[in-house]
Amino acid sequence: MLLENKKGLILGVANKRSIAWGIARSAAREGARLAFTFQGERLEENVRELAGTLPCSSVYPCDVTNDAQIERLFHSLKQDFDGLDFLVHCIAFANREDLENEFVTTSRDGFRLAQDISAYSLVSLTRAALPLFSGGAGGSVLALTYLGSERAIPRYNVMGVAKASLEASIRYLASDLGPRNIRVNGISAGPISTLAARGIPGFTSILEHYREKAPLRRNVDVDEVGDAAAFLLSPLARGITGEILFVDAGYHIAGG
Ligand code: NAP
Repeated sequence: MLLENKKGLILGVANKRSIAWGIARSAAREGARLAFTFQGERLEENVRELAGTLPCSSVYPCDVTNDAQIERLFHSLKQDFDGLDFLVHCIAFANREDLENEFVTTSRDGFRLAQDISAYSLVSLTRAALPLFSGGAGGSVLALTYLGSERAIPRYNVMGVAKASLEASIRYLASDLGPRNIRVNGISAGPISTLAARGIPGFTSILEHYREKAPLRRNVDVDEVGDAAAFLLSPLARGITGEILFVDAGYHIAGG
């Protein structure tokens, strides 16, 4: 098993359709012991119920805009988990109006909020995880991104700018932490129907467009992203850092 005896934290499970949950299933299948977080009481029951279906898992609150909650999360993890081998960031948020209107109308607050939740949180969570990664084996960090970081995809708007910032953060973190044997990578997933994705206007037509144009002529699912994540988190990917791996049925290489 690829992740036998590894301990991982996965942030961003909202329900069974979440990409984070696909990654959790793959990681658990490969032998990992997992911790999950939920944001606010609304999702606590969902996350506890899902986590309970895995052999060995714990659940903690964490709103990534709240430094005190991040501190408490890693304090609890230190006591309960005694070290960490990987961290998976599957978190993004933008105000609905900033996805519905033209990008040029984005407010200062909307811009700041999308950056804070979707990009800066990777920096603050990775920093908080450092003391738990301190074993000689190092650690692995993974974040989820989307092609809207490098192409102007209609209505992805401020989230595309946040993903560009997230991808740059992946490279700077990889550069900082490589000497400590901590690898930092991203997966750029094709569109998948999740709670967050359904907030993007015209999402169904994006799914159709990918099915028509991607070399594999289909959409991807959370299990495919989960398996790619298990690879990147595992020793099989020990020579890879600062990289964005596309799991999108090949869409990003297609012309026309
Ligand atoms: P999802 O199931 O809705 O997951 C998004 C998660 O982010 C939810 O658990 C959400 O919790 C959490 N979140 C938002 N604000 C937060 C905060 N302040 N603190 C803590 N958690 C917060 O959607 P998903 O599609 O799986 O998204 C996971 C990641 O994949 C995101 O980074 C997304 O951009 C990326 N991605 C998605 C697609 C796609 O097509 N689905 C494609 C490429 C990349 P709440 O529900 O409580 O807000």
